[in-house]
Amino acid sequence: MTSNLDILEQQDPDVFSALRGEEARQTTGIELIPSENYTFPEVLATLGSVFTNKYSEGYPGRRYYGGQEFTDQIENLARDRAKQVFRCEHANVQPLSGSAMNQAVYLGLLEPGDTIMAMDLSHGGHLTHGAPVSHMGKLFNFVRYITNPVDGSIDFDKVRADALEHKPKMVLCGYTSYPRDVDYQKFKDIADEVGAITMTDASHFGGLVAGGAMKNPFDFGFDVVTTTTHKSLRGPRGGMVLCKKEFASKIDKSVFPGLQGGPHMNAIAAIAVTLKRAMTQEFKDYAEQVLVNSKTLASSLMERQASLITGGTDNHMMVVDTVASYGLDGRVAEETLDKVHITTNKQIIPDDPNPPLRPSGIRIGTPAATARGMNEGDMKQLAEWLDKCLRAPEDEASLKAIRDDVIGFCEQFPVPGIGND
Ligand SMILES: *Cc1c(COP(=O)(O)O)cnc(C)c1O
Repeated sequence: MTSNLDILEQQDPDVFSALRGEEARQTTGIELIPSENYTFPEVLATLGSVFTNKYSEGYPGRRYYGGQEFTDQIENLARDRAKQVFRCEHANVQPLSGSAMNQAVYLGLLEPGDTIMAMDLSHGGHLTHGAPVSHMGKLFNFVRYITNPVDGSIDFDKVRADALEHKPKMVLCGYTSYPRDVDYQKFKDIADEVGAITMTDASHFGGLVAGGAMKNPFDFGFDVVTTTTHKSLRGPRGGMVLCKKEFASKIDKSVFPGLQGGPHMNAIAAIAVTLKRAMTQEFKDYAEQVLVNSKTLASSLMERQASLITGGTDNHMMVVDTVASYGLDGRVAEETLDKVHITTNKQIIPDDPNPPLRPSGIRIGTPAATARGMNEGDMKQLAEWLDKCLRAPEDEASLKAIRDDVIGFCEQFPVPGIGND
């Protein structure tokens, strides 16, 4: 039988060859970008399924188009599984991405001009947490809190004083580049004192919450939790808004028709499939191993005198101050590691004196490497390679030898979903 990929190869050799190139890149390199992962084979199959053909504006039982028997089934499955996995009262699985899900929350629960309290971007906040270049940053009034870069702690007396002064309508925690866990209780107490809605953006660590390896904000009475589905959760690209029942109707209206048109039913089917995986013991073990690997990699780097922002990690990522550690800016560090097939991303550090495209650090995370089955011993090997490369970025012979070692090493670790067609 001719497979869909055989047809692609005949119809469009250009795209086919790029696809094979990307498969080879993912197979012969070590992925350490903390927001990336390898999804499950059945997620790839579902994403490439006939559900992509279907328009289903609206929600199960209340659609704007006919023919919804099976789309209703999968959206209900996805919502029910999301509620079960995250122990929450309501789930909206339609946001087309993480950015759209956050926009839907702000626009659905607040009025333009309202104040949101969120982390400073250079300390780990995401663009959608009110970057001045983002539309949300223009629509809402963001008040900032920061961390102590030495240990990553947040000065909650200051957060409380600022909250009392600025009376935010929403207090937001959960970050994109912060290697520590969050003290939800403290944020909740402060929010309650000023009558603010509590929101966690768990985009990065949603899979670790799902797998029970990290705290669940709903256990502390949080109102809203958002998460992408493609980072530590290992699903398709997308976003979910999880919330208490009292916000359900506002959130649903905000996602559709407020912000979006037709949902991507192939992605929603793939989210359902991902959440079934997330309920397994295997996924819980995966989530735990992500943390063990992260701690091992961080301590191995620090043993080699690397300087880590906040001095370590409690989650799946770490931020290395490459200027302090190796005298290299983050861009040079990223490019050097690219040469040996180790993928990281340059990253601004708290109050970075350098510009975003030449920042002072790199961000490293373990979700993708762990999905390939790497463990603590492999993290020590990785630390050795990272250290060698960054101490001698101009030693081409050494870089070439490391690259060959990395490629050989990768052969032991098949990438989920590649090589099944
Ligand atoms: C990745 C991320 C997002 C946005 O997700 P996209 O799917 O890239 O739009 C939002 N918030 C946080 C904290 C993130 O890390």
